[in-house]
Amino acid sequence: MTILINNLTYIYNPGSPFETKALDNVNLQINDGEFVGLIGHTGSGKSTLIQHLNGLIKPTSGKIEIDGVDITSKGVKLKTIRQKVGLVFQYPEHQLFEETVYKDIAFGPQNLGLSEKQIDERVKEAMELVGLDFKLVKDRSPFELSGGQRRRVAIAGVLAMKPEVLILDEPTAGLDPRGRDEILGQIKELHEKHNMTIILVSHSMEDIARLVDKIIVMNKGKVAMVGKPREI
Ligand code: ATP
Ligand code: MG
Repeated sequence: MTILINNLTYIYNPGSPFETKALDNVNLQINDGEFVGLIGHTGSGKSTLIQHLNGLIKPTSGKIEIDGVDITSKGVKLKTIRQKVGLVFQYPEHQLFEETVYKDIAFGPQNLGLSEKQIDERVKEAMELVGLDFKLVKDRSPFELSGGQRRRVAIAGVLAMKPEVLILDEPTAGLDPRGRDEILGQIKELHEKHNMTIILVSHSMEDIARLVDKIIVMNKGKVAMVGKPREI
């Protein structure tokens, strides 16, 4: 699926003394099956941008089209967008709260009106996609797992919704080098084996240059550069 971002501007707290223009006339295209790295300094607008892509924030002006449908228009349901675009927040494991890994991953699909069997299949599949052993891990508490594993549980929860696009905000933040390699390897596999469209937000060019097809550099709310990793 193709994402078109058209003249997107976003202002936090408009008209107040804290007014901040976080996105300033952003134009971007993200193509089906692409693996995109989104980088930029703190405060450059990365998180604000990706929160628009799954409908969490509505633009101050401009629009976003996914496969020709304007997701910023009033008629589009949040639930519809969420099923197409999966967003993994920074430190997603902070949102794990169930007593078992299984229950945490099943939480999203349970709201989709699926049968027990279908939910079971989704949890199994999602765990496989992030390299977690279903039988070994499903009944464990997420809190007994390593940092990297816990984060994979959280990512599996988003994958269990079967999104067409997966967006991850700094998925390696706070992990040790081993956890970081685990997560990046797993994300690479999602792209290569399963052809998912992926947007990976990172502070560091180094971390992602060898993985992605395209890099978007944000600076002060604007798109500063778009290109192949070796061109930037
Ligand atoms: P980081 O790398 O630190 O995560 P970022 O590139 O994700 O930064 P954003 O979080 O999108 O940047 O922030 C863009 C701008 O919007 C910054 O100036 C930030 O201070 C401001 N901002 C972000 N969230 C809010 C908010 N909830 N209320 C007010 N201003 C905000
Ligand atoms: Mg951010």
